[in-house]
Amino acid sequence: AGPGLKVISTLSVGFDHLALDEIKKRGIRVGYTPDVLTDATAELSVALLLSACRRLPEAVEQVKSGGWTTWKPLWMCGYGLSDSTVGIIGLGRIGQAVARRLKPFGVRKFLYTGSGPKPESAAEFGAEFVPLMRLAEESDFVVVTCALTPATQGMCNKDFFGRMKKTSVFVNTSRGAVVNQEDLYEALANGQIAAAGLDVTTPEPLPTDHPLLSLKNCVILPHIGSATYATRSTMAVLAANNLLAGLRGEPMPHELKL
Ligand code: NDP
Repeated sequence: AGPGLKVISTLSVGFDHLALDEIKKRGIRVGYTPDVLTDATAELSVALLLSACRRLPEAVEQVKSGGWTTWKPLWMCGYGLSDSTVGIIGLGRIGQAVARRLKPFGVRKFLYTGSGPKPESAAEFGAEFVPLMRLAEESDFVVVTCALTPATQGMCNKDFFGRMKKTSVFVNTSRGAVVNQEDLYEALANGQIAAAGLDVTTPEPLPTDHPLLSLKNCVILPHIGSATYATRSTMAVLAANNLLAGLRGEPMPHELKL
């Protein structure tokens, strides 16, 4: 838009795609869409977790390909949430909404990590604040719902996956760059962890010949966290109102504090 650019309105709660330093320097205002996509993204996170731990895409494929034959006790077995420990990386709006949805599945213990303890947010789930590596070691399910920042970039790496249990499932609905994908591939291919579910990757779209797509124990979705008709419609109205308010010099319904 050139030097005349005054307002940016992003149809997202994430703002890692914006050059914030430059935006701040130029006095550009930014509107974004928090809250309105929390429920849809949490719901998708749960769907992805269940797909990965109960091996749904693989099972559907077995039905289609004729792999479904006689009943066998251990065929297509996976891991369930009942009596499990769930670790949430980033107990923000979406992280809390995920925990709220997972609790009724019989989760025994919630752990979380972030920049510091958040007792008020954690109280609803009796969640315990722990360092990242302890979360990796003790969780049966790791769910990543943090923002992508310099501190979180590449945070889920070889060391992290190396600390996870062989029976644990990793789910990322935040941003692809929080994960070192080469390290995740190794962990999945070598049986270091049981399975993964990713709604976000690096790059997006993920090339169709990417090694992660060759793995049976990796479920990959095309960044559809907030993709319900109602949510996208609400996001669109909010983004338009942010833009109009910004251009009029009025307070935006949701302005990013820079
Ligand atoms: P919030 O700002 O409410 O939550 C972000 C969380 O990230 C905070 O709880 C924060 O924890 C945590 N965080 C920041 N730094 C770290 C760190 N170093 N280690 C661990 N956690 C950290 O945002 P939302 O919950 O609304 O959204 C979260 C992210 O989800 C967005 O930034 C976006 O990238 C992604 N998203 C993905 C969608 C999809 O389609 N897949 C849809 C919508 C969002 P603390 O408060 O302790 O700093």
